[in-house]
Amino acid sequence: MPPGPGAGWRVRHGASNVPQGNSHPRPEQTDVMTTATLFNHSYDPTTGRNPNAGPPPVRRIVIVGGGTAGWMTALILARSFIERGVEITLLESPAVGIIGVGEGSTPWLRGFFDSLGVEESEWMPACHATYKCGITFDGWSTKPGFERYFHPFASMLDNLTLKQFVHNVDARVNGADVHAHPDRFFISARLAERRRAPKAPESFPFDIWHGYHFDAVLLGQFLHKKALERGVRYQSCHVTQANLAADGSIASVSTGEGETIAADLFVDCSGFAGLLIEKALHTPYVSFSNNLFNDAAVALPTPIDGAIPSETVSTALRHGWAWKIPLTSRYGNGYVYSSSFCTRDEAETELRRHLGLLESDVEARHLKMRIGRVTRHWNRNCLAVGLAQGFIEPLEATALLFIQQTAATFVEFLEKGDLSEAAHQRFNERVNAHFEGTRDYIVTHYKTNNREDTEYWRANAANLNLSDELKQLYAQWMSGKGIAAPVGQQQLGKGYPVFSWYAIMAGMGIFPARGQLHRPNEREGIYKMAEIDDLIERSSANYPDHRAALGHIAPRRTGPSLQVYFF
Ligand SMILES: Cc1cc2nc3c(=O)[nH]c(=O)nc-3n(C[C@H](O)[C@H](O)[C@H](O)COP(=O)(O)OP(=O)(O)OC[C@H]3O[C@@H](n4cnc5c(N)ncnc54)[C@H](O)[C@@H]3O)c2cc1C
Repeated sequence: MPPGPGAGWRVRHGASNVPQGNSHPRPEQTDVMTTATLFNHSYDPTTGRNPNAGPPPVRRIVIVGGGTAGWMTALILARSFIERGVEITLLESPAVGIIGVGEGSTPWLRGFFDSLGVEESEWMPACHATYKCGITFDGWSTKPGFERYFHPFASMLDNLTLKQFVHNVDARVNGADVHAHPDRFFISARLAERRRAPKAPESFPFDIWHGYHFDAVLLGQFLHKKALERGVRYQSCHVTQANLAADGSIASVSTGEGETIAADLFVDCSGFAGLLIEKALHTPYVSFSNNLFNDAAVALPTPIDGAIPSETVSTALRHGWAWKIPLTSRYGNGYVYSSSFCTRDEAETELRRHLGLLESDVEARHLKMRIGRVTRHWNRNCLAVGLAQGFIEPLEATALLFIQQTAATFVEFLEKGDLSEAAHQRFNERVNAHFEGTRDYIVTHYKTNNREDTEYWRANAANLNLSDELKQLYAQWMSGKGIAAPVGQQQLGKGYPVFSWYAIMAGMGIFPARGQLHRPNEREGIYKMAEIDDLIERSSANYPDHRAALGHIAPRRTGPSLQVYFF
């Protein structure tokens, strides 16, 4: 990253970790109108369906794999194609289990269920699910005042405070001593702190775009049941090989049970095995290991009682980070770490110590992770979805979103009936851009850390393997001109909205050191924190206790006031 002009902020290891740049560039006016981020969550069973679509270009679809990816894809395809006569069959090995982790979501999962017409009151209790207002990052920075911050999900009410947040952050980057930690500006942060649910009563019509926590195994069973109800066929069998046609596409798969199953389209949801997309079609794979070091995890449940949090907590440990996910029946905990920096036993001991389970005989589950993506998610007549297409480590719980978006985008292409090579290319570019944008955001968590305790954290901060776009984004931040406009227009920081980029950079304390700050001038200090605190406190009082809300899950709300958010 090119260093900014003027005296630099403190730089570690002689490397260009983020805190570089000038200490007092001239403040710029932030045009908040250019930060618009639109969320339209008013999905319903007709959303995105094309009533005038021509005949489907495929008649038989075979999905290999019955994990979350397989069943979500089956339901998304079934919604558009079963009624039009397409046969969808899911094959699942009786010998290979599902990964069985993956218990947090982004708010997009809500759109998935809404588009299927499945109510929260039906699926949430069945999956021991809870509401999620966002993620607390604890211990990622050691800068005083920035040891902990919350990455919120959006709310309509944030329209009232986002402008103030962006203003204060930009002023602080420019050296003004104003409050610029994200937590006091977002209602989701307050709700999480108070263990409230992001579900207001009808009389308070401000919706919050919340995510969920859920039991991964129960979610798989629920989706399985729903898919069968909607006409998806299921076969328990172990796929042993894919048989290629003369043109190199997949003609059929053979099973250990002695069957040969043909289809026009195959969906590879076989998990990290990548049976069809990699093993059969040899699609090249791009590893992300040069800037996402974590490649293993260890998981352990703990009991839950009393109040139920409405957030995920991600705590930085010595060689990675630990998740804590509240379900109605237990906490899911795990440690995501890099096996280049610590052994599996060291990781388990550290997690047990973190959870106070050193003496406990609760069994831990160890997992390997492969971080990266295939170059072509749609290759010939094979679509890869889920871990088979790639995986970015679970820090922002984005994997289910990749599944949903890959499958839904594919339906758009199928609806148009265009299976040409050009269509393949457009599709793959879209999915790859999504992966790369998400990767940049996740990398930022590591790159901006200033922990000194282990080689793992020092190596992350010193790592120079950054995309050009990320370097530009950091340079823009350090220039003091603000990143709201280029991120709002999605020229930089693609895939994440303005509030997320400001939350991470400000939350990690990427500001001039305390001693370099000046007293804010009138314009820099225009916003009064007491007024913002009051507004957030009064708004949050409308939201119920989380545990109580889970006991009375209300039907989905509809209405024009809830459909669109502008920031
Ligand atoms: C540590 C960790 C934490 C995670 N946390 C999150 C999170 O918080 N949020 C999130 O969104 N995601 C998370 N994920 C990712 C999430 O778990 C997966 O994206 C999701 O579960 C989908 O997995 P999958 O269906 O692709 O693969 P799997 O669950 O591995 O399913 C693979 C399927 O393929 C079948 N199969 C394999 N071989 C054969 C064969 N030869 N014949 C027939 N069938 C076969 C298996 O039987 C199985 O049904 C996490 C992942 C890890 C590793």
